[in-house]
Amino acid sequence: MKRNAPVMTPAKPTDRSARVAERLADITRHSPTRAGLFHKVYYQRPSKALAVKAKCLDCTCWQPLEIQKCQIVTCPLWRVRPYQKAPLCQTEARGGPSREGTSSGRVRIAEGV
Ligand code: SF4
Repeated sequence: MKRNAPVMTPAKPTDRSARVAERLADITRHSPTRAGLFHKVYYQRPSKALAVKAKCLDCTCWQPLEIQKCQIVTCPLWRVRPYQKAPLCQTEARGGPSREGTSSGRVRIAEGV
């Protein structure tokens, strides 16, 4: 066994339920308008996009503008984060690595920001 390897202990289901309820209560207190989104993510089967949106909102204390301007380019969610004018993954899928300055008005969030 490697030294300094993190030891992960799976959470017991009851632990998760209690922690989720506590977190949802906290979110409801601080950002009531987001409570529904987090309720869906915690208790239903959310889409991946909704789960990413929730994570990014959680990461930025519910600030969509901060998500749009996020500079943590090494974050695994960065390329698919919500609130981009044109998500990078979509612009690439359309065949163009860059759509800056196009007449469509879409702005590509440049890598290396
Ligand atoms: S993409 Fe940015 S806002 Fe979203 S989770 Fe990563 S660091 Fe946070």
